[in-house]
Amino acid sequence: MRYSKQREVIKRILCETKSHPTAEWIYRQAREVMPSISMGTVYRNLKLLGDTGEAQIIDTDGGVARYDGDVSLHTHFVCLSCGRVIDAEAPLVDCSAMESKGFRVISQKNILFGVCEKCGKSGKD
Ligand SMILES: [Zn+2]
Ligand SMILES: [Zn+2]
Repeated sequence: MRYSKQREVIKRILCETKSHPTAEWIYRQAREVMPSISMGTVYRNLKLLGDTGEAQIIDTDGGVARYDGDVSLHTHFVCLSCGRVIDAEAPLVDCSAMESKGFRVISQKNILFGVCEKCGKSGKD
């Protein structure tokens, strides 16, 4: 496969943030480095990074997809109020009982939806 400078730039942007950005945000950052890059190129490369396991695509149930350069299995929390996606301190689903019965788990989505601590605070006073 041809070395892709664009893919390297996108991957670096992803790895340098903990904010689980949208493709739009990544596009704006990438344009600073490569003014000629198009939104389509960004989407294509994000999909490719997802396919090769170099990035995680977080499907936020009808919301905009978010991307994570941290590919370790971890739980995400999506705030339904401000849209923030953060790494949640929550245990992963334990599949060992299923697997001991012969089931094979290929993927799991560890995602929580709710209201973050900041939005929860501003609600009441
Ligand atoms: Zn929030
Ligand atoms: Zn994450």
